[in-house]
Amino acid sequence: MTAALHKIVIVGGGAGGLELAATLGRKFGPTHVILVDRAAYHIWKPSLHEVAAGMLDIHREGLSYFMLAKDCGFTFALGEVAGVDCAAKKISLDCVLNPEHEEIFAAREIVYDTLVLAVGSKSNFFNTPGAGEFALTIDSTEQAERFRQRLLHAVARANRDKNGSAGPALQIAIVGAGATGVELAAELTQAFSEMAFYGLDNFDPSADVQISLLEGAARILSALPEKISSAAHQLLLDRGIAVKTSVRIASVDAHALYDIQGERFPADLCVWAAGIEAPAFLAQLGLATNRNHQLIVDAGLRTSDPDVYALGDCAQAAWGPDGKFIPARAQAAHQQASFLYGALADRIQGRQGATRMFRYKDYGSLISIGHNRAVGRLMGVLAGRGLFVEGLFARLMYMSLHLMHHLAFLGLVRTTSLAVGRLLLKRGAPRVKLH
Ligand SMILES: Cc1cc2nc3c(=O)[nH]c(=O)nc-3n(C[C@H](O)[C@H](O)[C@H](O)COP(=O)(O)OP(=O)(O)OC[C@H]3O[C@@H](n4cnc5c(N)ncnc54)[C@H](O)[C@@H]3O)c2cc1C
Repeated sequence: MTAALHKIVIVGGGAGGLELAATLGRKFGPTHVILVDRAAYHIWKPSLHEVAAGMLDIHREGLSYFMLAKDCGFTFALGEVAGVDCAAKKISLDCVLNPEHEEIFAAREIVYDTLVLAVGSKSNFFNTPGAGEFALTIDSTEQAERFRQRLLHAVARANRDKNGSAGPALQIAIVGAGATGVELAAELTQAFSEMAFYGLDNFDPSADVQISLLEGAARILSALPEKISSAAHQLLLDRGIAVKTSVRIASVDAHALYDIQGERFPADLCVWAAGIEAPAFLAQLGLATNRNHQLIVDAGLRTSDPDVYALGDCAQAAWGPDGKFIPARAQAAHQQASFLYGALADRIQGRQGATRMFRYKDYGSLISIGHNRAVGRLMGVLAGRGLFVEGLFARLMYMSLHLMHHLAFLGLVRTTSLAVGRLLLKRGAPRVKLH
C-alpha cells in the first residue's frame, strides 16, 4: 500500500477518536483521514453531568466537527454508522434527517483501508424491568439536555405546587455511584442552589429536594481506592445527598424504584448510571466481542480483523497479566489515541510490519464534587506512590484534564482563547442554564 492511497476511517469523534483524527489529519491531510460521527458537534463526554445539571451550556461548549476538520486537516462525514462490511472494507451510514424529517444527507458508504472504531459506550440496564422505559441516562448530549429540561420543569412544578406538606416535593434517584453518578449528584446540589437564587421564591433546595444515590456495591466509587471513596461519601453527605450502598435495584416504574428485597425508593426523576455496554451493532460485525458488545482487541489495539482497530469504551483490552481490563475512562481513550497515531502513521507510510504494543499507564483518578471541590489520587507523584488530593487543588487538576483534551486538537493558542472567552461569557449569564 502506498502513502498516496491509504485511507483511514475513524468512526466516533469522542474523547479518543477526535484526538486521533486531529493528530493524523495534521500530519497526512484530509484524503487520508476521515472522521465519521452521528453528531455535528463535539462535547467532551466527562462534562455531560454538568450539561445535565444546567451548569454547562451545550450551545457554548459544543465544537463543530466541520470546523475542527478544516482546522486539523481531516475530512468529516456526518452520519450514524449502521454497519461495517469487513470483507468489502466499507462502512454504511444511515441518511441524516432534520427535525422535520427531511433528508439532509443521503445514506452513504465509505470505503477504508484501515478502520478505527471509537464509538464509545452507553448505559447498561442489565435487563432491569422498567429501566429502559422510565430511567433517564446521560450518555449523549441529547440525553443530558433531555434530563436538564425534565429537571427544570420538575423544579418549576415543585415551586408552584408547594403546599406546606411535609417531605421533599422533588425526589431524584441516581442508580450507580461510580464517577458518573457521584459527579451528577454533587453537580445537582450546586445547580439547585443556583436555581433558587434566580427567583423560585417558594423553592428551598435543602427542604424541597431529596437526591438519593443508590449503589449495588458495599461502597461508592468501588473501582477506586477506599480513601477516595470515603472522602467522596462524606462530601456527598455534607451536601445532603442520601447515599445508600448494597442496594440492588430490581425494577423501575414511573414513580419509584424497587430493590431485590422489595424496598421502594420513590423517585420523580430516575437516572441510570450503573454500568456500561458498547453499542449493540458491534456484536453483529463478525468481529470478536464480549458480552457487553465490546470489541476484543490485542496489545496493538487490533480487533480480530487486522485492518480494524478499536479504542476507548467500545474496546476490551487486557491490562497486565492478571486478567484485568483497561478501564473505560477518558484517560485510557486519550492514551490509546496517542498510541494509534504512531501505529497508523506506520500503516499510511507502508510500514505495516512494525509491531507496537500499547501499555496503559494509570495517572490516577479525580472525582468532581461540585464546582469548587474534587477528590482523587494522582499516581507517580511520590516515588511511584499515589498522592491523595482534595479540595480546590484537586478541582483545578480535574479542570485541567478537559483543557488537555482541547489542547490535543485545538492547540495552545485556541485552547487558551476559548477558556478565557468562556470565563468572560460566564460573567454575563446566569450560573445555571434556565431556559
Ligand atoms: C457523566 C460522565 C462523566 C464522566 N467522567 C469521567 C471522568 O471524570 N474521568 C474519566 O476518565 N472518564 C469519565 N467518564 C467516561 C468517559 O467519558 C469515557 O470513558 C470516554 O468518553 C470514552 O471515550 P471514547 O472515545 O471511547 O467514546 P466517547 O467519548 O463516548 O465518544 C464516542 C463518539 O462516538 C460517536 N458515535 C457513537 N455511535 C456512533 C455511530 N454508530 N456512528 C457514528 N458515531 C457514533 C458519538 O457521537 C461520540 O462522539 C465519564 C462519562 C460520563 C457519561
